[in-house]
Amino acid sequence: MTPTMTTDVIIIGAGPVGLFAVFELGLLGLRAHLIDILPRAGGQCAELYPEKPIYDIPAIPSCTGQELVDRLLQQIKPFAPTFHLGRSAQGLARTADDTAWQVTLDDGTILTGAAVVIAAGGGQFEPKKLPGAQAFEGKGVAYAVRETQAYRDRDVVIAGGGDSALDWVLALAPVARSVALVHRRDAFRGAPASEAAVRALVAKGQVALLIGQITDYHGDEAGHLARISLRLTGQGDEATITQEVSCQALLAFYGLTMRLGPLADFGLALERQLVVVDTARFETSLPGVFAIGDINTYPGKLKLILSGFHEAALMAHAAFGVCRPDERLRFGYTTTSSDLKARLGVHD
Ligand code: FAD
Repeated sequence: MTPTMTTDVIIIGAGPVGLFAVFELGLLGLRAHLIDILPRAGGQCAELYPEKPIYDIPAIPSCTGQELVDRLLQQIKPFAPTFHLGRSAQGLARTADDTAWQVTLDDGTILTGAAVVIAAGGGQFEPKKLPGAQAFEGKGVAYAVRETQAYRDRDVVIAGGGDSALDWVLALAPVARSVALVHRRDAFRGAPASEAAVRALVAKGQVALLIGQITDYHGDEAGHLARISLRLTGQGDEATITQEVSCQALLAFYGLTMRLGPLADFGLALERQLVVVDTARFETSLPGVFAIGDINTYPGKLKLILSGFHEAALMAHAAFGVCRPDERLRFGYTTTSSDLKARLGVHD
């Protein structure tokens, strides 16, 4: 049976702007579900620059991308949004009785809400894939780890030079039969402590470090990955050698790209792959469907977090009219409104 969940507002994208939308909607008493294809919230801030300082968030002279996300998550806690992480929003349609919107997720779950907020940034993040490995996707080649125990007693090869690759080497080394890390050069972009821990395992012979590139994939009789070929480059040595390595599981962490994806087929008016909105309500060409943050376009648009926060506040007031058509919205300040303070769970 298809799982169905009902809420006031469905937010597609759990980047900084989607998270702040939860807050603005929550202040008005509207409940929200958030969907993100990534396994954690934070969008570009968490994925692309978690440790870099941001200097242009009002009243916060400096905070890193991850700190901003952590503060937003703390700020929206009183409104207890439901997260659907690791899930992609695949479809948008009206309900059969035309009273609400339905968003379908890639696992078949259907979310129903009076309003939808598209806060999808530059589109959904997707892993950069290994060239030529498509035939083995789901048959040994993967770009994320869902369950560590699935790697027990396997020969695992991890490709990449950033934090994800190093972290998964450390997590899978005690579980797998063997773990090899493949990177094109003998230098890593990840946290120095993780790199040191990986190098210690290499020194003890518990992890193999292979400097070079994957050149070919070989399957067993059932079509599952069994071995890979590598072109290895010696340190400071121009000569290369080719080697075959036993490998039933190949995990590649080459970073992420962004793609508009299924949103392109939602029937929204688009301009250069961005969703066209008005600047009073931040509503799209579909009534009750709003777009805020990097995904939208209007005259004078600046792709800044600050702009997305402003858009979230105006959107929330417009969405209230859609979700509660029979109620009048009273404007209030969080400093003085007892209604807003009650929703935040704070007292004078
Ligand atoms: P995003 O952060 O892009 O989040 C959108 C989320 O939606 C993503 O997590 C994505 O996976 C998800 N998504 C998309 N489609 C789907 C789908 N169909 N299903 C499920 N999930 C989906 N801005 C500043 O104001 N100040 C700065 O100093 C600054 N520095 C930056 C530095 C760098 C290196 C970069 C790359 C950007 C910087 N920015 C800065 C820009 C800022 O990060 C963006 O404006 C901000 O992240 C936009 O937030 P968002 O929530 O709209 O989108």
